[in-house]
Amino acid sequence: MDVPAGKRALLKVIVLGDSGVGKTSLMNQYVYNKFIGQYKATIGADFVTKELQIDNKQVTLQIWDTAGQERFQSLGAAFYRGAECCVLVYDVNVLKSFETLNTWREEFLKQADPAAPDEFPFVLLGNKIDIDGGNSRVVSEKQAKDWCASRGNIPYFETSAKEGYNVGEAFLCVARTALTNE
Ligand code: GDP
Ligand code: MG
Repeated sequence: MDVPAGKRALLKVIVLGDSGVGKTSLMNQYVYNKFIGQYKATIGADFVTKELQIDNKQVTLQIWDTAGQERFQSLGAAFYRGAECCVLVYDVNVLKSFETLNTWREEFLKQADPAAPDEFPFVLLGNKIDIDGGNSRVVSEKQAKDWCASRGNIPYFETSAKEGYNVGEAFLCVARTALTNE
């Protein structure tokens, strides 16, 4: 639906992936341009917002983070409800975090239950590419792109929350993708 002139579009985005892959760090780098190194797990799901303009459209991106519960408990319906885009994150240096992407994707589709699951927009981020100059990575760019290609061409970005590399580009794509699903 078109947004009337002067009205902001509110886009809900949720970020999923194994604990420790850098979800909170990516969001903080994107919204506050800060890398803090260590975040305390807090209780309950929470979100941060970022205002941006896309093709003359005022957009508020509402980005929901898991507060550590991704480790041991389900995130609850309110977390998933009404999401316009789901960002999946893995750590290019940790194979397990890549292997669990499917589980996260399926969990999202099950919980959010979108009208057209095959067309629901995901964006994949391969994070921590700064570590060891890329020498400790265990998932190649090709593997990640193949994974995306076989699931309806999910956009893929390699990022470093630590260095801020590709973070703005990735979330701009997330915003554009979410906008198409408004
Ligand atoms: P989350 O559990 O997915 O939210 O992950 P966090 O954002 O809490 O990050 C987990 C750990 O990885 C923290 O110690 C971060 O400082 C670190 N980290 C996150 N992103 C990066 C990155 O791009 N590069 C490096 N070197 N460390 C990162
Ligand atoms: Mg976190």
